[in-house]
Amino acid sequence: METQQYWLAKISIFEQSLYGLFIITILFSSYFSHSSIAFLSAILGLFYLTINANMAWSPWLFDNKNWLVVNGFLVCGFLGLIKDRGVFSIHGFYRIILLGLCGFIAYLWLFTSDVFSMYLNANQYPENWGTYLPIEVPLFSVVLLLLWRSISTASLSVVALLVSTLVWGFEHYQLINLPWSIILTILVSYYILVVVIDSYSLAYRDELTGLPSRRALKQLSLSLGNSYSVSMVDIDHFKKFNDKYGHDIGDQVLKLVASKLTEVKKGGKVFRYGGEEFTIVFPRKSLEQSKQELERIRKLIANYKMVIRDPKRQTKDERTHNKTSNKKVSVTISIGVAKRTQKQDFEQTLKVADQALYKAKKSGRNNVST
Ligand code: GH3
Ligand code: MG
Ligand code: MG
Repeated sequence: METQQYWLAKISIFEQSLYGLFIITILFSSYFSHSSIAFLSAILGLFYLTINANMAWSPWLFDNKNWLVVNGFLVCGFLGLIKDRGVFSIHGFYRIILLGLCGFIAYLWLFTSDVFSMYLNANQYPENWGTYLPIEVPLFSVVLLLLWRSISTASLSVVALLVSTLVWGFEHYQLINLPWSIILTILVSYYILVVVIDSYSLAYRDELTGLPSRRALKQLSLSLGNSYSVSMVDIDHFKKFNDKYGHDIGDQVLKLVASKLTEVKKGGKVFRYGGEEFTIVFPRKSLEQSKQELERIRKLIANYKMVIRDPKRQTKDERTHNKTSNKKVSVTISIGVAKRTQKQDFEQTLKVADQALYKAKKSGRNNVST
């Protein structure tokens, strides 16, 4: 009895703080351009208001539970398909209209599936197939759609939509034995985490190569000790390469070089500094140790025959047979490396590495200089 009262008191804390949490999540996710999370939070907030505070439309909703469930699935599916394009904009306005349309489609679906299941039952289809139509078909379709979108976009917000759909479905089948205030507190906190992680990786990862960005390098430089080596890596004659093969193939090569660079050992950390330049930091490594490892990587790249897809250079025959022609190309890199000396900060060490890179270029490229 005492423990029950204890928990009831705890739940009321969740109930009271949840509205605030909804408002924070909506504002936070809108600010960080995660409009699908913002819309979902707003809709769940409205749902919570409906069940918690007796609103004018609450009785209607309780009488139309199937509509509520199907509408929830459709909303998640729809949000998984659209791009994040702001909440307080004209796009946001259109989205609200389309979200309203989901409600209408849910209504239409329940109506047609009713008619259809009557037909199935009347024609004595086995196992009452018709009963699975209204809820299970939309649930299954939306889960499949969001699974595919999660994989193809690799976006955590789409995964959050998938998780929300599953929670919504589990709740419908009474598989989750928790009050809504707790379920929603957990879901909404999870949304905040998703927005934080997504925004962090946007700021700290380079989109083309997937490598940590210059901003991440700056962050790392703050946590380095006193002993480290820094190297600047630059692709040789990359402008000519772009002129010869085109910018798209240049991008492919940049990605391949980036992935080869990540094969660096001895604790080297690779960053895209900008353009066709990369930085590799070796914490606690001497100049000699770093130089040796960089020499290995330089040779690795020089001997690396990169296979690239070249749709522009297809022959007529290949085009008609829808084949892409694969080409083999290779590039070389020049590297400048420097070890931090006493009284130098990270920026100064980087500058020395950059001067060494200039030396490497002067002495014929495709080499490592100090
Ligand atoms: P060097 O051997 O002296 O380094 O010659 P370079 O042509 O590589 O040097 P430069 O700095 O003059 O030119 C760099 C070129 O890299 C310019 C640009 O065409 C190309 N580049 C920079 N960023 C990208 C990118 O993101 N994608 C592609 N495709 N090319 C890029
Ligand atoms: Mg350059
Ligand atoms: Mg270059």
